Amino acid sequence: GNRNMNAKLVLLGDVGAGKSSLVLRFVKGQFVEFQESTIGAAFFSQTLAVNDATVKFEIWDTAGQERYHSLAPMYYRGAAAAIIVYDITNQASFDKAKKWVQELQAQGNTNMVVALAGNKADLLDARKVPAEVAQVYAQENGLFFMETSAKDATNVNDMFYEIAKRLPRV
Ligand code: GDP
Ligand code: MG
Repeated sequence: GNRNMNAKLVLLGDVGAGKSSLVLRFVKGQFVEFQESTIGAAFFSQTLAVNDATVKFEIWDTAGQERYHSLAPMYYRGAAAAIIVYDITNQASFDKAKKWVQELQAQGNTNMVVALAGNKADLLDARKVPAEVAQVYAQENGLFFMETSAKDATNVNDMFYEIAKRLPRV
């Protein structure tokens, strides 16, 4: 088989959940407290070695604002993977994540690897969404779940690595 593969990956989720911060952490190993809002979408790429193969992620970081919602299919169509991000301190962002899950399920690409990321896991004192609730929801919907922190780097590389391992091999 092909040892080097490209994988289109899209990040979806409410504005402020930390999509851009997760990408910045994964691609550049950095975090900024005042991450600028994404306009439309931004593109990044990063290559990961998995076993004896490499996966080059072509990452679309979407904006999350409702006014850009109609653009989202351009980014998730044909994607091998999606990360749906919510903020563990914000119940509304979890509700929004479920809406994204429904939208992805409705568009019918059953091969897509979908991860649910409960971000800002460093803000434990402000938690509103119990990890167990998200875990059960993820299991029921065939998603792969992790709590992440773009700020302290918890589970960020691991999440991309787990996605890479789940991609169908060519
Ligand atoms: P996006 O709209 O989903 O792209 O969210 P951003 O990446 O722009 O992040 C929104 C805000 O949350 C910014 O002020 C970030 O610094 C902050 N943020 C993002 N990830 C984390 C995290 O893991 N922990 C904490 N404490 N703050 C975060
Ligand atoms: Mg953003």
